[in-house]
Amino acid sequence: MNITESLKQVLNELPEGVRLVAVSKFHPNEAIEEAYRAGQRVFGESKVQEMTAKYESLPKDIEWHFIGHLQTNKIKYIVPYVALIHGIDSYKLLAEVDKQAGKVGRTVNCLLQLHIAREETKFGFSFDECREMLASGEWKLFQNIRICGLMGMATNTDNAEQIKTEFCSLRNFFREVKDKWFSESEAFKELSMGMSHDYREAIATGSTLIRVGSKIFGDRNY
Ligand SMILES: *Cc1c(COP(=O)(O)O)cnc(C)c1O
Repeated sequence: MNITESLKQVLNELPEGVRLVAVSKFHPNEAIEEAYRAGQRVFGESKVQEMTAKYESLPKDIEWHFIGHLQTNKIKYIVPYVALIHGIDSYKLLAEVDKQAGKVGRTVNCLLQLHIAREETKFGFSFDECREMLASGEWKLFQNIRICGLMGMATNTDNAEQIKTEFCSLRNFFREVKDKWFSESEAFKELSMGMSHDYREAIATGSTLIRVGSKIFGDRNY
């Protein structure tokens, strides 16, 4: 299947209220252009330099989502244009995004990343760390960021039950955080979960943003 066909296949499976982030990392502009011609406007990248080069050379109505691990010294390169940062996993990072966004006069949309997988390698707050960060209240003083929801990655496994359990734990945590801290916020509504191998489970458990790469663009060579 080509990119257009695979893209349409994924889009056809999306219920109302679920959006696709087409993860184009490590794929060339030509691949993105094909998806763009098929109507896709939201793309996800995980490297600052790569995303910025693509932003500069591709149509300006593309929404660029940063889904990787963000280093504080690189925030300044993406704040002028990024549509959503999925991977905020510390108070320090949030504070730095706020600072850099202020310098360019933008309000930058962010998701808090939670660690829900069994693997130790994945980034993210634990539920308790996130509760503590929110309870401190300091984030409320930030003027240049908007917290739009939560993001998580399930364990890389074929065990669908395990994946569902992890996604459910994130969905329940989303409800807790929404009720406790964001009940007045219209912006806090996104639950970013689901990749090529588990987006169906993610949708079934309440995802609003799926991040699908290889299923659309093919295998990455890295
Ligand atoms: C690479 C990546 C994806 C997409 O993974 P696929 O398996 O290619 O769909 C989704 N989310 C994050 C955070 C990623 O780094």
